[in-house]
Amino acid sequence: MNRFLIISNRLPLNINIKDDEIEFTPSVGGLATGMMSVSQSFDSLWIGWSGIDQNQLTAKERKKINLELKNEACADVNLTPEEVELYYEGFSNKTIWPLFHYFSQYVEFKEEQWEAYKRVNQKFADVIAENMEGVDKIWIHDYHLLLLPQLIKERFPKVTIGFFLHIPFPSYELFRTLPWRKEIINGMLGADLLGFHTFDYERHFMSSVRRLLGYDINMNEINLPNRIVRVDNFPMGIDYEKFQNAALEAQKRSVRDKSEVRKELERYYLLYPDTKFIISIDRLDYTKGLINRLEAFEYFMEKYPEYRDKVVLVLLAVPSRIGVEQYQQMKSEVDEIVGRINGEFSSINRTPIWYFYRSMPFENLVDLYNYCDIALVTPVRDGMNLVAKEYIASKTDGRGVLILSEMAGASKEMSEALIINPNDIAQIAESIKTALEMPLDEQIERNTFLQKRLKRYNINKWALEFLNGMEKVKQSEQKFMGKKLTTAIQNKIIKELRNADSAVFFLDYDGTLTGFEDNPKHARPDDELYELLDGLADNPKNRIVLISGRDKDTFEEWFGKKPYTLIVEHGVWYREKGEPWEMIEQLDASWKDSIRSALEFYVDRTPGSFIEEKNYSLVWHYRKSDPELGPNRAIELKDELTSLVSNLNLEILEGNKVIEIKNRGINKGRAAQKLLNSAPADKIIAVGDDWTDEFLFAALPETAYTIKVGMSKTMATYKVENFWQVREMLKRIVTE
Ligand code: UDP
Repeated sequence: MNRFLIISNRLPLNINIKDDEIEFTPSVGGLATGMMSVSQSFDSLWIGWSGIDQNQLTAKERKKINLELKNEACADVNLTPEEVELYYEGFSNKTIWPLFHYFSQYVEFKEEQWEAYKRVNQKFADVIAENMEGVDKIWIHDYHLLLLPQLIKERFPKVTIGFFLHIPFPSYELFRTLPWRKEIINGMLGADLLGFHTFDYERHFMSSVRRLLGYDINMNEINLPNRIVRVDNFPMGIDYEKFQNAALEAQKRSVRDKSEVRKELERYYLLYPDTKFIISIDRLDYTKGLINRLEAFEYFMEKYPEYRDKVVLVLLAVPSRIGVEQYQQMKSEVDEIVGRINGEFSSINRTPIWYFYRSMPFENLVDLYNYCDIALVTPVRDGMNLVAKEYIASKTDGRGVLILSEMAGASKEMSEALIINPNDIAQIAESIKTALEMPLDEQIERNTFLQKRLKRYNINKWALEFLNGMEKVKQSEQKFMGKKLTTAIQNKIIKELRNADSAVFFLDYDGTLTGFEDNPKHARPDDELYELLDGLADNPKNRIVLISGRDKDTFEEWFGKKPYTLIVEHGVWYREKGEPWEMIEQLDASWKDSIRSALEFYVDRTPGSFIEEKNYSLVWHYRKSDPELGPNRAIELKDELTSLVSNLNLEILEGNKVIEIKNRGINKGRAAQKLLNSAPADKIIAVGDDWTDEFLFAALPETAYTIKVGMSKTMATYKVENFWQVREMLKRIVTE
């Protein structure tokens, strides 16, 4: 069985040392549960920080702890208090957390914290490296470890790496403010599969990749120079059965066995049976929208005095990141508003807000969820928000109303809730009223939908889907590995060429023999390339055919005096060495005026784009345009041209950041075939990098060696990563 590593900042257990006794309590969080379902199919190991500084322990304690961790299939990444301060409380929680939650006013950019973040990510990589025996998959979690995928990929390129971000990924406009944005994105791109809670986070991430690094993106695949990264959304679920069952259990308990919270709620209800309870549970974090929520409650009490003595807001604020200034400030603010509201709206026996500043054990939470009529979940930004899901899962009789912020990832899947904008205080207040007055059958109807979905897409399903995603990536990687033009295959080609009587080389130019420039005129051949092609052509058995979409004047200027065959404009023109240009097929160019005006409109609307005019085609280039606007406009343009081109018997070719319109049926494949019909060759080698070269690959006989430059899907038999590798291969052919 293969070994599987799970990596997160904290290990899924808590360690307490009290009076020489060491106590281990497993974490009951969603992640641990989800991973349990995954780990059953693997021999797995969880690597993370135990929460304890091992340097402060005696040798005996250390031994005991590490042994116990090993028994629990865990390994500790030991962090010093300084590292915890700078990496965890610092960069993770004072830079990434506020930035990714759109709280730019709280973001700190401190070099010292960034350095610590890098150091600790490296520390994680080192512990992983010590545990790599037999490992073929690694799943890394969350924003503390954004650099880790790349660190691992560099050291262990064959291992499949998954990364899941549990918080939002912000819009590029925000992300770009981070001084280390490129390092962070590159770090994440070390993964083979990147997972986010929602499509929006995925979209923001893609946008940052495109804008910062300019990589090509095909649907949900990012084409890196040497591999593909898949990006997808996997909305995290909860352990549905656990909440349902616990809620059922809680209802059955005798009075004596009930939790204090439950007893208190029931006692109150007996005294005041017209009371409705609203539950509010979250960590005391500025992202959770507690202030807005309280203000909305206050507004509600003011606007609807008839409800004043009939509603109780049970406010559970769980202490969190207590050392951080903004959290302390928020705590005082919450205390103050709660005091104000209670001061204003309490009557002799009744207080509208029951405020608890503490955490609660699982059973009590479920009691609250189960008992309360309404859940008020109003984060201003939240990656997912599990409380919303847990509340619905705990409603055993289907009653209850969830008021949910549209800024929580969960809102994407829970449209049957009352969805609110957390900044719209009046709307929240209105929805409290709507919730209080919602008929029971409507509550049940809404919750039945929600429960069905939560039950189906639970935490196990989430984990397994992600894991399946990793497996698929691995399979497609293996397929690609099979296509790689290895040294052994190159040796074979060289040997066959040596024994052949004649050989023809179909070589595309841009992206295949040389790199791309913003202005295509600047991508002239360099001396090394001339030398290489001349070297190939020196062998009388070889025929060199440069086959390109370029116009004939440019190729005339660059290669006119060279002993190569030239085919340009995707197969319109043909020129044998030393001969005049000939048209391969008779064509008409009278259509150009009508298409040109359409393209000009797009040039005006897309800064940086321009039209290239060839004899029998028009090309719209957008390489220099905004990396997101360009591709979007290209889609629009294609759409607009579709009906025009079919009437004029034209076709649209989509190349690398270009759209070309030309006569139908003219392509590199057809031109190559014609050439081969009149002059067959023993061996055929064809190399090309984009879509237009696929015609060439498809038209050649099976015995031809077809080679694709780049990672996207292809008809070619082999792939190389970039044009440098093409040159290296050609160099070998020349010298050997
Ligand atoms: N929770 C808990 N004890 C408490 C209050 C909350 O264990 O006293 C749990 C709750 O059940 C939920 C989690 O904390 O699973 C909060 O997750 P959520 O996604 O809502 O917010 P986060 O705190 O992760 O931002």
